[in-house]
Amino acid sequence: MTHSIKPQPGIDDIVLYKGGESRIDGHDQVLKLSSNENPFGPPQSAQDALIATAATLHRYPSSDHASLRKAIADVHGLDADRIICGAGSDEILTFLCQAYAGPGLEVIYTEHGFSMYRILALGAGATPVVVPERERVVDVDAILAAVTDATRLVFLTNPGNPTGTMIGNEDLHRLADSLPDHVLLVLDGAYVEFAEGYDGGASLVESRETVVMTRTFSKLYGLGGLRVGWGYGPTHVIDTLNRLRGPFNLGVPQLATAQAAMLDRAFAEHCQSENARLRTWLAEALAEIGIPSDPSHANYILARFADAAEANACEAALRSDGILVRKVAGYGLPECLRITIGTQANCQRVRDSIERFRKGE
Ligand SMILES: *Cc1c(COP(=O)(O)O)cnc(C)c1O
Repeated sequence: MTHSIKPQPGIDDIVLYKGGESRIDGHDQVLKLSSNENPFGPPQSAQDALIATAATLHRYPSSDHASLRKAIADVHGLDADRIICGAGSDEILTFLCQAYAGPGLEVIYTEHGFSMYRILALGAGATPVVVPERERVVDVDAILAAVTDATRLVFLTNPGNPTGTMIGNEDLHRLADSLPDHVLLVLDGAYVEFAEGYDGGASLVESRETVVMTRTFSKLYGLGGLRVGWGYGPTHVIDTLNRLRGPFNLGVPQLATAQAAMLDRAFAEHCQSENARLRTWLAEALAEIGIPSDPSHANYILARFADAAEANACEAALRSDGILVRKVAGYGLPECLRITIGTQANCQRVRDSIERFRKGE
């Protein structure tokens, strides 16, 4: 049968998001370092909380997420009324595009920025606008130069994925202060917890009506499989996003499990300190065998090879050793591989495999 059903403009232009692979044929003990997952797994406290919810699954979940928002607010010193929780921070980013972007409007993100921004902008019918970075670092002036009357959102991942680099408070303030007041600055803070001394932009949010930050339970808290993230913004933005949010967007297990993880500060601190220690170790170990990386403020490093051919050959060598890392040609970085920081044993295995590759063994 014929039909004339068509999706809204932009949707057919979306290229499907590709997640990090998790399987290699012929290997049953794959070391997956391709999705920036927590190598220690989910905290035991969160697993216990999850199991405890099983007997209450006949009940609808809270629709205001008050208890989870209070836990987040207490830990971060924020106003619980201006927190919104979603099915991953992806859902918060989706609400932002639905609410503020649309046909004839522009969404800015940077050259090596997260591929979801393009997908979400197109999904809202808006025009994605890509701005260059300078040597894998966000360039505030390039962002400002790209702003037009049609710009509605600027997405900035800080620290950046896949670069691991970040811009400091001075640049962030300059960006927030220089954007015209019809532009909402979205600080995607998926990796904030791995950056020492950075509040993810919370203080910028507090002092302005035009800045929002998003955060996630998927990385530091080891809960990527659960799908919980949150946003923090001015009242007018949070009110707008809540109109789009389904009342039961988070289930009982998601709410209870995320709350337990947030309150488990010992787990979070352990993961942060191990990540910082092993990130330095791996970066130095690779630099010693001639593979540099920019100083990373996240839970991965972006290893830089001579060219795309060498990066691809190294990825294949790692794969034959049962190790999956992320190729990032799709992010405009064909000569690089993004490697998630694992446990000490994981990092050692990566280093040994890459060393054998470099020796041509
Ligand atoms: C992992 C990641 C997220 C988090 O997504 P969730 O939907 O919360 O799992 C957001 N932004 C970036 C840049 C990421 O790398």
